[in-house]
Amino acid sequence: MDTDNSIIQRQPKAVSLLGGSAASGRVAHAYLFEGVKGAGKEAIARFFTQLLLCLSPMDGKPCGECRNCRRIREDNHPNVTQIRPDGQDIKKGQISDLIYKLNKTGLEEGRKIYILHQADRMNIAAANTLLKFLEEPEGEVTAILLTDRASAILPTIRSRCQEIHLQPPPREAVLEQLVTEGGVTRSMASTVTMVTADPEEALALSEDEQFGQARKTVIKLVEASDKSIQEALLFIQTDWGPLFKEKEETELGLDLLLFAYRDISAVKAGLSTPLAYPDNKSRWEEMALRLTFGRLASILEAILKAKRNLQSNMNRTLLMEQLVLNMQEGQHAL
Ligand SMILES: [Zn+2]
Repeated sequence: MDTDNSIIQRQPKAVSLLGGSAASGRVAHAYLFEGVKGAGKEAIARFFTQLLLCLSPMDGKPCGECRNCRRIREDNHPNVTQIRPDGQDIKKGQISDLIYKLNKTGLEEGRKIYILHQADRMNIAAANTLLKFLEEPEGEVTAILLTDRASAILPTIRSRCQEIHLQPPPREAVLEQLVTEGGVTRSMASTVTMVTADPEEALALSEDEQFGQARKTVIKLVEASDKSIQEALLFIQTDWGPLFKEKEETELGLDLLLFAYRDISAVKAGLSTPLAYPDNKSRWEEMALRLTFGRLASILEAILKAKRNLQSNMNRTLLMEQLVLNMQEGQHAL
C-alpha cells in the first residue's frame, strides 16, 4: 500500500491539479482517475479524499494528522463510501443504496465523497442509475471513479467527470515486483516491462509460451543478421514467418527487435538503463564493438520504417525481407 508521500512523488501532475482545485474551491462533482494497475489509483483517491476533508490542509496537501485524515486512512470516515464490484460487476442495488445513504441525514457536516473502484465494471442498470444521480448534483457531494480503461465507461458518464490520467509505475519498480513477487526471471521481466507498463499484463506476458518463443526468435534473428544476409533471409523463411503470422504478432516482433538494437546502442553508449535482454549482455557488448553508432542508427531507422509499412498493410514476408536487406545496408561502408 502506498504511503501518502510516495504517491505525491509518483503522480506530481495529478497531485498539483487536485491540490489546485481543492484550494480554489472549484471542486468538480465527479472525477475519473484512469491509470494502469500499479499506477496508484487508490492512493491518489485517498490523497484527494483527505485533502477535501482535512481540517488543516497546507499547500494543496492534507495534513495527514487531523481527525479526518486519520479516519480516512483507517477507512472509517462516515462521509466516505467505497463501492467495489460485487462479484463480476457493480450492481444497480449498490448504486441505489449509495444514493439513499448520501441523501439521508446522520452523516457529518461537510462534503460527502464516494469512490467507485473498477468503475468500468458497473453494469448498464447501475451506470444509468449513477448517471441520473450525476445529472442532478446536489450539495457537497463528490464522486471519484477509478478505472484501468476510461474507454470502457459510458460516454455520458465520462462527459460528466473531470478525467485525470495517472502515470504508469516506473519500469524498474514493475521489473523488481515481477522478480520478487511474481517469480519471473530477471531477463524475462526486463523484456516484458519494455512491452507494457501494466504489472498484471506484464506478468501474464511473461507466462505466455508464445511470447517466450517470440523473444527467442527475435534474438536469433539478431544473431543471424550479424552473421550474414543469406542466413538472415533464410531465418525469415524457416523460423520468423511461421511464428509471426498476424499483423499484431509482427508488430510485437518488430518491437522486440527494436529493443534488441536499442540495448546494443545503450551498451555502446555506456548507459546504465536496464536492458531489455540482460541475459544477452555479453553478446551485445561484442556486437557494440563492431557496430558504429551510425550503423546502429540506420538499423533502428530500418525497423521503424518496417513498423510504418506494416500499418500500410504491406505483404509481411516481403516487409521482413526488405527489413533484413535495409539492416545490412552500410555494413561494409563504415
Ligand atoms: Zn488533515
